[in-house]
Amino acid sequence: MHRRLSAEIIASGTELLLGDTIDTNSAYIAQQLRDLGVDVYFHTTVGDNARRLRSAIEIAAGRADLVIITGGLGPTVDDVTREAVAAAVGRPLAFSEELLEQIAARFARFGRPMTDNNRRQAYIPEGATPITNPVGTAPAFRAELNRSTIIALPGVPREMHYLMEHEVIPYLRSHIGDAIIRVRVLHTAGLGESHVDSLLGDLEEGSNPTVGLSAQPGRTDVRITARADTAEEADQMIESVARIVEERLSGHVYGRDHDRLGAAIAERLRRRGVRLAVFESVSAGLIAQELLEVAAELVAAHEVVPWTGDAEADDAHSLAGDIALAEDAYVLVSLGAEPDGDVQSTKGRRAALAVVGPGIDIATHFDFGSHPGLFQPWVVNHSLFCLWEALGTQ
Ligand code: AMP
Ligand code: MG
Repeated sequence: MHRRLSAEIIASGTELLLGDTIDTNSAYIAQQLRDLGVDVYFHTTVGDNARRLRSAIEIAAGRADLVIITGGLGPTVDDVTREAVAAAVGRPLAFSEELLEQIAARFARFGRPMTDNNRRQAYIPEGATPITNPVGTAPAFRAELNRSTIIALPGVPREMHYLMEHEVIPYLRSHIGDAIIRVRVLHTAGLGESHVDSLLGDLEEGSNPTVGLSAQPGRTDVRITARADTAEEADQMIESVARIVEERLSGHVYGRDHDRLGAAIAERLRRRGVRLAVFESVSAGLIAQELLEVAAELVAAHEVVPWTGDAEADDAHSLAGDIALAEDAYVLVSLGAEPDGDVQSTKGRRAALAVVGPGIDIATHFDFGSHPGLFQPWVVNHSLFCLWEALGTQ
């Protein structure tokens, strides 16, 4: 059985607080914990000050099962993590002959003299468990405070990475069990992110599986992540949520994981046994490209047509009608233009689309109100979605 752990990461170092050094350690630790299924709720940054670090540790231990500290284990006076943890757990620092020998051995190996202040590194809070550090001189350690486990790691990224990988992650795995994490992505199109959010809001509040959204212009991915003892169990948990998502976003989910919109369209074209001709303006060939990449044999023709000014459904429809006479295929016409030919213009934009061919005759327009730079990718995705939708009708 696995259990859920919550964690807080404390990065200590005045250089981090001042912005002179970017805190990459916290990002790394957070990613590792995420992959283990540990929930990180807080990142704290604190300077090289024993009193404030102690207070940060006490706060963290009051709200997290696991507190990982990085930094402040060096030999110098401004390395205060040992003192701060000792004060927080209410134990004195205790000298460890064994740790001193390890430190001395490392200096001997590199033929460097050990200075007196390196002795500081052989002190850890009484009762703490040392974590030997074969890649540096600063021993790391683990201590308990109330119901929290505190792990102090060096600040040097290379040493911290090594100890995370070889000591901390195996330790955490053995304590939380081998939870399996599975992820599935449902790809949706034709609904804005906020619309998807309003339909799935309650699911997004769940904790296992978790449901999250990530939006691109004209498309929204729904990511479902489940944690369980076995892959089968996690997959089942995902499946039951996926079914709810598909039901609520009915007609908008075109694929899963690595599925592409172009492939979903190709499948419907094959089923109908008809090819497609693409005529597009502002999308500059990108609509055709999506199809050419997955099923070039289904593209009967493709052309970029110049268009200026707004596009209306009638424009797209009459253009499609003219072309349809000449092609034994569905014709997709997607029209849209940058206002006054200016890609930066903040004016509202309208694009129009028509799909004409055996059993299908539609024309529509759509208004775009978001950032001008997103107009083109939005037209691409929205046109592809409308085409896919049209091909799905009986
Ligand atoms: P310390 O163990 O605090 O003496 O840190 C040793 C060195 O590691 C510092 O001088 C920084 O260059 C680097 N370092 C410490 N903490 C971090 C961090 N959170 N992210 C990236 N680098 C760090
Ligand atoms: Mg430091």
